[in-house]
Amino acid sequence: MNLFFFSTKPRNKKTGVAKRRNTISRTQRTVDLGQQEIPYTLTLRPGSRTIRLHVDPDKGLVVSAPTRAPIHAIESFIIQKKFWITRHLEESKKIIQRKQIPNGTAATILGESKVVIVKEHQLKRPYIAEKPQEIIVYAPQNQTIIKKTLENYLRKKFKVHLTKRLKEISNIMGTHYGTVTIRAQKSRWGSCSYRNNLNFNWKLIFFPLQVIDYVIMHELTHTVHHNHSEKFYDLLSHYCPDYKALRKSLHNAKTLF
Ligand SMILES: [Zn+2]
Repeated sequence: MNLFFFSTKPRNKKTGVAKRRNTISRTQRTVDLGQQEIPYTLTLRPGSRTIRLHVDPDKGLVVSAPTRAPIHAIESFIIQKKFWITRHLEESKKIIQRKQIPNGTAATILGESKVVIVKEHQLKRPYIAEKPQEIIVYAPQNQTIIKKTLENYLRKKFKVHLTKRLKEISNIMGTHYGTVTIRAQKSRWGSCSYRNNLNFNWKLIFFPLQVIDYVIMHELTHTVHHNHSEKFYDLLSHYCPDYKALRKSLHNAKTLF
């Protein structure tokens, strides 16, 4: 997001955009940028003294301006910034494509094959219903909301599974651990601090259960050996003889997120 500042002096109301001055007004407009017409949302704010441009992946170009700003001044400001705008619109198009979870997407969740069904619903609070072969997302047709709703649900689901398996496996291994956090690191599946606090990536939910168990065993082994020494692998292979193959399958990630 970038801001551009533009100060406007109070002037005669020739804007034809907002008649009322003490409320925020929002209108959909289009502006001609030469090669293309760009739709945008114009928000007029009584207290504001600057024109701001913002490109949102879902809403597109959003322009906020003082209530008194004349429309020709707003639009000439937009035209002035057309390269910045087209660049950011291109980027957000890519973001949207990357973020997309189309209706009918197949995924393996904790070792079970599921199909993600998106059902359009104008709810204040989107929600999820899970069936044996389906995960149904009830949400407005907005990819950011759909993805966020699904992520929150899957994170919780992963936490429940992880908490249970950690206890069980730790009991078998006779290990002790501190706090457990769940994150979304880019390239790490798990980690163990010097204080034996554990950290797991929720995207492990998309892997087979044995792979998740392997990551749990790997981190629990670190509570005994804080390195990847021979002793570490001796202990790990005692509880997880297939660790090499399981570790390899982590590289073939087919995660939804
Ligand atoms: Zn390690």
